[in-house]
Amino acid sequence: MTSPARLLIVGPQGSGKGTQGARIAGALGIPAVSTGDVFRANITAGTPLGEQVKAITAAGNLVSDELTGKIVRDRLSEPDAASGFLLDGYPRNIRQVRDLDEFLGGRGESLDAVIELSVPRDESIARLALRAKEQGRTDDTDEVIAKRLAIYESETAPILDVYRERGIALRIDGVGSLDEITERITTALAARGIVRSAAV
Ligand code: AMP
Repeated sequence: MTSPARLLIVGPQGSGKGTQGARIAGALGIPAVSTGDVFRANITAGTPLGEQVKAITAAGNLVSDELTGKIVRDRLSEPDAASGFLLDGYPRNIRQVRDLDEFLGGRGESLDAVIELSVPRDESIARLALRAKEQGRTDDTDEVIAKRLAIYESETAPILDVYRERGIALRIDGVGSLDEITERITTALAARGIVRSAAV
Protein backbone atom coordinates (compact mmCIF):
# COMPACT_ATOMS: atom_id res chain seq x y z
CA MET A 1 0.00 0.00 0.00
CA THR A 2 1.21 3.50 -0.75
CA SER A 3 0.83 6.32 1.75
CA PRO A 4 -1.60 8.85 0.27
CA ALA A 5 0.35 11.47 -1.64
CA ARG A 6 -1.61 14.05 -3.57
CA LEU A 7 0.89 16.05 -5.51
CA LEU A 8 1.09 18.69 -8.18
CA ILE A 9 4.13 19.58 -10.26
CA VAL A 10 4.32 23.09 -11.71
CA GLY A 11 6.93 24.67 -13.93
CA PRO A 12 7.26 26.58 -17.17
CA GLN A 13 7.17 24.72 -20.46
CA GLY A 14 10.59 23.16 -20.94
CA SER A 15 11.25 22.87 -17.20
CA GLY A 16 11.16 19.09 -17.44
CA LYS A 17 8.01 18.75 -15.33
CA GLY A 18 6.57 15.98 -17.51
CA THR A 19 9.71 13.87 -17.20
CA GLN A 20 10.21 14.53 -13.51
CA GLY A 21 6.51 14.11 -12.77
CA ALA A 22 6.51 10.65 -14.36
CA ARG A 23 9.67 9.67 -12.46
CA ILE A 24 8.35 10.85 -9.10
CA ALA A 25 4.94 9.25 -9.63
CA GLY A 26 6.67 5.99 -10.57
CA ALA A 27 8.88 6.13 -7.49
CA LEU A 28 5.89 6.73 -5.21
CA GLY A 29 3.64 4.21 -6.94
CA ILE A 30 0.95 6.74 -7.82
CA PRO A 31 -0.47 7.64 -11.25
CA ALA A 32 0.85 10.71 -13.06
CA VAL A 33 -2.06 12.66 -14.50
CA SER A 34 -0.96 15.02 -17.26
CA THR A 35 -3.69 17.04 -18.94
CA GLY A 36 -1.33 17.86 -21.82
CA ASP A 37 -0.75 14.13 -22.40
CA VAL A 38 -4.51 13.44 -22.33
CA PHE A 39 -5.10 16.14 -24.94
CA ARG A 40 -2.21 14.97 -27.13
CA ALA A 41 -3.34 11.32 -26.98
CA ASN A 42 -6.86 12.33 -28.02
CA ILE A 43 -5.56 14.49 -30.86
CA THR A 44 -3.39 11.63 -32.15
CA ALA A 45 -6.29 9.17 -31.89
CA GLY A 46 -8.64 11.62 -33.62
CA THR A 47 -11.33 11.42 -30.92
CA PRO A 48 -14.10 14.06 -30.67
CA LEU A 49 -12.24 15.55 -27.69
CA GLY A 50 -9.07 15.65 -29.79
CA GLU A 51 -10.89 17.44 -32.60
CA GLN A 52 -12.29 19.92 -30.09
CA VAL A 53 -8.92 20.88 -28.60
CA LYS A 54 -6.60 20.49 -31.59
CA ALA A 55 -6.59 24.09 -32.79
CA ILE A 56 -6.54 25.49 -29.25
CA THR A 57 -3.45 23.56 -28.16
CA ALA A 58 -1.68 24.10 -31.51
CA ALA A 59 -2.06 27.86 -30.98
CA GLY A 60 -0.70 27.60 -27.45
CA ASN A 61 -3.97 28.74 -25.87
CA LEU A 62 -5.61 27.14 -22.86
CA VAL A 63 -8.49 24.71 -23.23
CA SER A 64 -11.59 25.82 -21.29
CA ASP A 65 -11.62 25.39 -17.52
CA GLU A 66 -14.90 23.44 -17.75
CA LEU A 67 -13.63 20.86 -20.21
CA THR A 68 -10.23 20.47 -18.54
CA GLY A 69 -11.81 20.24 -15.10
CA LYS A 70 -14.16 17.47 -16.20
CA ILE A 71 -11.27 15.44 -17.65
CA VAL A 72 -9.32 15.76 -14.40
CA ARG A 73 -12.30 14.91 -12.18
CA ASP A 74 -13.07 11.82 -14.25
CA ARG A 75 -9.45 10.69 -14.13
CA LEU A 76 -9.08 11.28 -10.39
CA SER A 77 -12.25 9.28 -9.82
CA GLU A 78 -10.64 6.13 -11.18
CA PRO A 79 -9.64 3.57 -8.53
CA ASP A 80 -5.88 3.89 -9.03
CA ALA A 81 -6.01 7.56 -7.96
CA ALA A 82 -7.78 6.79 -4.68
CA SER A 83 -4.58 6.57 -2.66
CA GLY A 84 -2.73 9.36 -4.40
CA PHE A 85 -1.82 10.97 -7.69
CA LEU A 86 0.56 13.45 -9.23
CA LEU A 87 -1.03 16.17 -11.32
CA ASP A 88 1.04 17.67 -14.13
CA GLY A 89 -0.36 20.68 -15.97
CA TYR A 90 -3.52 21.10 -13.89
CA PRO A 91 -4.44 23.43 -12.24
CA ARG A 92 -2.99 26.07 -14.52
CA ASN A 93 -4.83 29.19 -13.38
CA ILE A 94 -6.56 30.47 -10.25
CA ARG A 95 -10.01 29.36 -11.37
CA GLN A 96 -8.73 25.79 -11.83
CA VAL A 97 -7.16 25.95 -8.34
CA ARG A 98 -10.61 26.72 -6.93
CA ASP A 99 -12.26 23.99 -9.02
CA LEU A 100 -9.71 21.43 -7.82
CA ASP A 101 -10.07 22.57 -4.19
CA GLU A 102 -13.81 22.09 -4.45
CA PHE A 103 -13.52 18.64 -6.00
CA LEU A 104 -10.91 17.38 -3.54
CA GLY A 105 -12.67 19.07 -0.61
CA GLY A 106 -15.80 17.11 -1.51
CA ARG A 107 -13.79 13.94 -0.93
CA GLY A 108 -12.25 15.26 2.29
CA GLU A 109 -8.89 15.61 0.56
CA SER A 110 -6.41 18.31 -0.34
CA LEU A 111 -3.02 18.52 -2.03
CA ASP A 112 -0.13 17.45 0.20
CA ALA A 113 2.66 19.18 -1.71
CA VAL A 114 3.24 21.27 -4.80
CA ILE A 115 6.59 20.81 -6.54
CA GLU A 116 7.71 24.01 -8.20
CA LEU A 117 10.42 23.36 -10.79
CA SER A 118 12.37 26.55 -11.13
CA VAL A 119 14.17 27.05 -14.46
CA PRO A 120 15.41 30.35 -15.94
CA ARG A 121 13.52 31.55 -19.01
CA ASP A 122 16.54 31.21 -21.35
CA GLU A 123 17.03 27.61 -20.30
CA SER A 124 13.33 26.80 -20.88
CA ILE A 125 13.45 28.28 -24.36
CA ALA A 126 16.62 26.37 -25.24
CA ARG A 127 15.12 23.08 -24.04
CA LEU A 128 11.87 23.69 -25.94
CA ALA A 129 13.76 24.43 -29.15
CA LEU A 130 15.62 21.13 -28.73
CA ARG A 131 12.39 19.23 -28.04
CA ALA A 132 10.82 20.81 -31.14
CA LYS A 133 13.63 19.33 -33.22
CA GLU A 134 13.44 15.93 -31.55
CA GLN A 135 9.67 15.44 -31.22
CA GLY A 136 8.17 17.87 -33.72
CA ARG A 137 5.33 18.93 -31.42
CA THR A 138 3.01 21.34 -33.21
CA ASP A 139 3.00 23.67 -30.19
CA ASP A 140 6.80 23.92 -30.03
CA THR A 141 7.28 26.55 -32.76
CA ASP A 142 9.02 29.81 -31.73
CA GLU A 143 5.84 31.85 -31.84
CA VAL A 144 3.74 29.33 -29.92
CA ILE A 145 6.50 28.77 -27.36
CA ALA A 146 6.57 32.51 -26.65
CA LYS A 147 2.78 32.54 -26.24
CA ARG A 148 2.82 29.52 -23.89
CA LEU A 149 5.55 31.01 -21.73
CA ALA A 150 3.65 34.33 -21.56
CA ILE A 151 0.49 32.50 -20.46
CA TYR A 152 2.56 30.62 -17.89
CA GLU A 153 3.85 33.89 -16.42
CA SER A 154 0.49 35.64 -16.36
CA GLU A 155 -1.89 32.80 -15.45
CA THR A 156 0.02 29.87 -14.00
CA ALA A 157 2.84 31.43 -11.95
CA PRO A 158 0.26 33.21 -9.69
CA ILE A 159 -1.14 29.85 -8.52
CA LEU A 160 2.18 29.25 -6.77
CA ASP A 161 1.46 32.18 -4.44
CA VAL A 162 -1.69 30.39 -3.29
CA TYR A 163 0.22 27.19 -2.51
CA ARG A 164 3.11 29.10 -0.88
CA GLU A 165 0.59 30.73 1.46
CA ARG A 166 -0.74 27.29 2.34
CA GLY A 167 2.80 26.21 3.15
CA ILE A 168 2.80 23.27 0.74
CA ALA A 169 5.00 24.65 -2.08
CA LEU A 170 8.43 23.06 -2.52
CA ARG A 171 10.75 25.12 -4.71
CA ILE A 172 13.20 22.90 -6.58
CA ASP A 173 16.14 24.06 -8.69
CA GLY A 174 15.33 22.56 -12.10
CA VAL A 175 18.79 23.01 -13.60
CA GLY A 176 21.06 19.97 -13.53
CA SER A 177 21.03 16.38 -14.71
CA LEU A 178 17.74 14.44 -14.72
CA ASP A 179 18.95 12.28 -11.84
CA GLU A 180 20.10 15.26 -9.77
CA ILE A 181 16.74 16.95 -10.12
CA THR A 182 14.81 13.76 -9.29
CA GLU A 183 17.00 13.40 -6.21
CA ARG A 184 16.28 16.98 -5.12
CA ILE A 185 12.55 16.39 -5.44
CA THR A 186 12.51 13.06 -3.61
CA THR A 187 14.60 14.58 -0.81
CA ALA A 188 12.23 17.55 -0.45
CA LEU A 189 9.20 15.23 -0.46
CA ALA A 190 10.80 12.88 2.07
CA ALA A 191 11.36 15.87 4.38
CA ARG A 192 7.55 16.23 4.30
CA GLY A 193 7.10 12.56 5.08
CA ILE A 194 6.10 11.76 1.51
CA VAL A 195 7.80 8.47 0.66
CA ARG A 196 6.77 5.22 -0.90
CA SER A 197 5.69 2.91 1.86
CA ALA A 198 6.55 -0.76 1.74
CA ALA A 199 3.95 -3.07 0.21
CA VAL A 200 1.82 -4.78 2.85
P1 AMP B 1 1.35 20.85 -21.56
O1 AMP B 1 1.91 19.62 -22.17
O2 AMP B 1 1.07 20.72 -20.09
O3 AMP B 1 2.19 22.08 -21.86
O4 AMP B 1 -0.07 21.10 -22.25
C1 AMP B 1 -0.19 21.23 -23.66
C2 AMP B 1 -1.42 22.06 -24.00
O5 AMP B 1 -2.61 21.41 -23.49
C3 AMP B 1 -1.48 23.45 -23.38
O6 AMP B 1 -0.74 24.41 -24.13
C4 AMP B 1 -2.97 23.73 -23.39
O7 AMP B 1 -3.42 24.05 -24.68
C5 AMP B 1 -3.54 22.38 -23.03
N1 AMP B 1 -3.68 22.22 -21.55
C6 AMP B 1 -2.99 21.37 -20.75
N2 AMP B 1 -3.36 21.50 -19.47
C7 AMP B 1 -4.31 22.46 -19.44
C8 AMP B 1 -5.07 23.08 -18.41
N3 AMP B 1 -4.92 22.73 -17.12
N4 AMP B 1 -5.95 24.05 -18.75
C9 AMP B 1 -6.11 24.41 -20.04
N5 AMP B 1 -5.41 23.90 -21.06
C10 AMP B 1 -4.52 22.93 -20.78
